[in-house]
Amino acid sequence: MAATILVVEDEPAIQELISYSLRQAGHIVLCAENAEQAMAAVNDALPDLVLLDWMLPGMSGVEFARMLRRVARTKSIPIIMLTARAEESDKVAGLEIGADDYITKPFSPRELIARIKAVLRRRSPEVADDMIEIKGLQLDPGTHRVTINDEEVTLGPTEFRLLHFLMSHPERVHTRTQLLDGVWGDHVFVEDRTVDVHIRRLRKALEPAAKDTLVQTVRGSGYRLSAGPAMG
Ligand code: CA
Repeated sequence: MAATILVVEDEPAIQELISYSLRQAGHIVLCAENAEQAMAAVNDALPDLVLLDWMLPGMSGVEFARMLRRVARTKSIPIIMLTARAEESDKVAGLEIGADDYITKPFSPRELIARIKAVLRRRSPEVADDMIEIKGLQLDPGTHRVTINDEEVTLGPTEFRLLHFLMSHPERVHTRTQLLDGVWGDHVFVEDRTVDVHIRRLRKALEPAAKDTLVQTVRGSGYRLSAGPAMG
């Protein structure tokens, strides 16, 4: 699982240790020493997860987390708070502002990696490298292969990402805007109609094996990948 992780930590030694461990685990690491730098990094590109130190010079980690949660673009970024204090009240406050997890220093790199994995799996399954199978349709993010009953399906890169996203959130209806954000990435300005074009291509690729009906149009809303019993 390779995720882009923003590490907001003012102590150089800890930042270095965390960055090293994350890179070893295959992640892409962005570093910030304070909330201001972190905000600049987030404005530049949305990370998959933020590791956020509680005590920062200037704006605290908690205030920064609150700020992220207030803005539509950033409100669903997974956040793991890091703290030197093991007090229960801190933990409660951290979870109240919407942190996904809370780790007390000192922690082992192994524990950190495991917690990150757990949060990503829960919050952003499309980032995880887990093989997904729905109704005989199999997608392997590791090898970028899609198969239906062991027959390989050839997909373009965008159709692959689109299918990965849809399969990671089965049964959920996604608007075109949500699909653009999740599949094309934010800051990418393409028209809503682009989504329709790629959905059509995706269905076409799934059609010979009669799996195109898994990709459903929800009128007036968007698209959904159905794992329901109506499909064969
Ligand atoms: Ca600190």
